[in-house]
Amino acid sequence: MSLAEITERLQRAESAAGRAPGSVTLIAVSKVQPPDRVARVLEQGHRIFGENRVQEAQGRWPDFQARYEGITLHLIGPLQTNKARAAMDLFEAIHSLDRPKLAQTLARLAQERGTCPDLFIQVNTGEEAQKAGIAPDQVDAFVTDVRALDLPLEGLMCIPPVDADPAPHFRLLAELAARNGLSGLSMGMSDDFETAVALGATHVRVGSAIFGARTG
Ligand SMILES: *Cc1c(COP(=O)(O)O)cnc(C)c1O
Repeated sequence: MSLAEITERLQRAESAAGRAPGSVTLIAVSKVQPPDRVARVLEQGHRIFGENRVQEAQGRWPDFQARYEGITLHLIGPLQTNKARAAMDLFEAIHSLDRPKLAQTLARLAQERGTCPDLFIQVNTGEEAQKAGIAPDQVDAFVTDVRALDLPLEGLMCIPPVDADPAPHFRLLAELAARNGLSGLSMGMSDDFETAVALGATHVRVGSAIFGARTG
């Protein structure tokens, strides 16, 4: 597939769901993709990218940012507290706020810097032991804590279990966001972004459908 096809499918999904055109942000997930594939998508005019590792992003995005105007980067993978400062320098949004310690570190750095990326709380909607994220029944309390730290909380994010029907997970995430007065919903990947849009996604994270299969 290609960027053009995905953009067109996204527009159709927005329209089918009665959503305004352009209301869903397409994050092109470039993690592990070779630079020539990333450059091709930049050449086609796309400027919003997702990476899952701070170090990988630090290594290659400054060059692209010197060559192309207006790039914004979203961190979609786990963030260690010792990388928080670097992440805040590089990313416009962090989708993986998944524990109190990280919230405290981000809050301290945000005070110091006077700015902070937009934050999404990662929710472990499938309650999977091996997966990061706040358990659904802890979300309300964690939202309260994050707000008390004066952090810019934009919304919630989830990665449904592999091989599960994603729709119930997207619905649960939308419910949790609505009852906490949060408008941002980061959900939907290559295989299910249209379902996510139908259920209210504001940010979809699409990798392999745009760039091709990840080889790394
Ligand atoms: C890799 C990744 C994606 C993109 O996955 P695709 O299936 O390639 O679209 C989206 N979100 C997160 C958190 C990821 O790690």
